[in-house]
Amino acid sequence: MSQISDLVASKLRDIPDFPKPGILFKDFTPLFADGPSFGALVRDIAQRYAGQVDVVVGIEARGFILGAAVAYELELGMVPVRKAGKLPGATLKESYALEYGTAEIEVHTDAFTPGQRVLVIDDVLATGGTAEAAALLVEKAGAQVTAIEVVLELAFLDGRTRLADRPVNAILTV
Ligand code: AMP
Repeated sequence: MSQISDLVASKLRDIPDFPKPGILFKDFTPLFADGPSFGALVRDIAQRYAGQVDVVVGIEARGFILGAAVAYELELGMVPVRKAGKLPGATLKESYALEYGTAEIEVHTDAFTPGQRVLVIDDVLATGGTAEAAALLVEKAGAQVTAIEVVLELAFLDGRTRLADRPVNAILTV
C-alpha cells in the first residue's frame, strides 16, 4: 500500500450495524478531523487531475467536503450533486436502486458548459448506484466524466462494473 492509502486506512473508523443491522459503516469523521491527513488526502487527489479537468462534482454529503477542498486546491469550481428537492433551480434527476427502495439525486440543468471535463468525487464506492447516477447526470447535462475518484472502494460489491468504461480511482480498496 502507498503512504496515502496507509494514512487513510489508519484514520477511517468502522461502525458496525449503522445505519441498519448488517452494514459495516465506514466513518470518515476521524480522517476529516485530522488536519495533516485531510490535507495530504486532498493534495493527493488534486495532483492526479491537475490540468486534466475543468470542474469538480461533489456528491452529497461527504463528497461535498472532499470535492470542495479538491476544487479549491485546483482553483476550479465545484458543482454539487444533491439529494432530490434541495437544489433551487431547474434540475435533471436520476433515480437509482438502494437495498430497500430507491433514491434520487439532482444537478442543476445549467451546472456545466458543453464538453466540460468533470472530476466526480465521493467518499465510498459500494454498489456503484450513486456514482453511476451522478455520472449520468453530468453526461445528460452536456459535460463529460473524466474520472470518478473515491477514497474507499468496497470491491466485494463490484460497483466498478456499473460505471462501465468511465475511469475510476480508489485510494484504498477493501
Ligand atoms: P452505492 O450507491 O451503493 O455505491 O453507495 C455509495 C454511497 O453510499 C456513498 O455516497 C457512501 O457515502 C454511502 N455508503 C455506502 N456504503 C457505505 C459504507 N459501508 N460506509 C459508509 N458509507 C457508505
